Amino acid sequence: MKPQQGGCLCGGLRYEARDEPGHVTLCHCHFCQRATGGTHMVEPIFDKTVFDIISGAPKVWTTRSAGSGMKVHVHFCETCGTKTHLSFERFLDIVGVYAGTFDDPNWFDVIPDASKQIFLEAAQQNAVILPGIPCFNGHMRKLDDTLNPSVTIQTPVVIGKAHWGI
Ligand SMILES: [Zn+2]
Ligand SMILES: [Zn+2]
Repeated sequence: MKPQQGGCLCGGLRYEARDEPGHVTLCHCHFCQRATGGTHMVEPIFDKTVFDIISGAPKVWTTRSAGSGMKVHVHFCETCGTKTHLSFERFLDIVGVYAGTFDDPNWFDVIPDASKQIFLEAAQQNAVILPGIPCFNGHMRKLDDTLNPSVTIQTPVVIGKAHWGI
């Protein structure tokens, strides 16, 4: 495939992905709401071997995951403040990209079998939940790696104020 590039608002920080994402996470947690300013983060996950910074150098802000206590590194442009991607102490081989920073945010597909919608317990009332993609209250897996329960809906739902019954 043709390498897909993206970058920050000012153009100083640029990156490239040379392969399809392994999967896509749609995360509704409050951390992602704060980080994006939107309802959720669309996060294509790439193997580190196919992802490179091609101009500029990101600043990195490190915090700890509320769930695992392990470090999460937020990479961003020092000049304009745009966040481009995340890396993780828990998953050393991958990066999670802020999808909207790709020059073409529609170049990859959110394939139901390789995607998930997580942290619906924190979703904003006007968030749209997509059909065909498993939904989880929190993380997909517990810290011991077992799978949490999920539901998959058949038509799109605006989350509203209703209780999300997983
Ligand atoms: Zn910038
Ligand atoms: Zn999140």
